[in-house]
Amino acid sequence: MDFKNPFLGGFKVTSPYGERTLNGKTDFHRGLDIVGLKTKEVRAVIGGRVLTSQIITDRTDLTWQWGNYICILGDDGNCIYYCHLDSRAAVTGQRVEKGDIIGIMGNTGYSFGAHTHFEVRKSDRRTAIDPAEYLGIPNAAGEYDIEKTSVSPWAEEAIKWAVDTEIMKGSIDAEGQIDFRPKENCTREEVAVFLHRFYEHMKGEFYD
Ligand SMILES: [Zn+2]
Repeated sequence: MDFKNPFLGGFKVTSPYGERTLNGKTDFHRGLDIVGLKTKEVRAVIGGRVLTSQIITDRTDLTWQWGNYICILGDDGNCIYYCHLDSRAAVTGQRVEKGDIIGIMGNTGYSFGAHTHFEVRKSDRRTAIDPAEYLGIPNAAGEYDIEKTSVSPWAEEAIKWAVDTEIMKGSIDAEGQIDFRPKENCTREEVAVFLHRFYEHMKGEFYD
């Protein structure tokens, strides 16, 4: 699954998908709560047609909890929901492309602090899909950044070598593209292992 990014500069997951306890009550969180790290503009993660762009203020309708929300029927046939927006920048019926700004992250509806409730459902608009898997990230709190999915030009040669020699995680496909997904970001522990293996390797080269 490709990494999809609703915020330029990345985002953090504040509440994952699935069962959770909120104010002493356990429920099933059908979306993923995300916060833009550097920007507040929410961007369509896939092109499609806006099915709904609205806010419901009548509290007898549970949908009021979503505040300002937009639902887009993506080109892949799934319905993608962006909720609690401060303002909406797309109208019902409109065509949007991947990366288009569709609203500003906000705190409308049943929300405690500015974030976007990101939810994905099948075309029946009922069956929830794991939104983390849909975005291509682990279903866990953490920071995810599109820049980390590709190798910086200055690191290309070193990363290719490290992946080639299997010192570092990752794989290289037929076109020479390096798989360096966000969940495979290099940690300090991995850097230490990397250096240690390299040291052991060099020791063998020179002293054995
Ligand atoms: Zn949520």
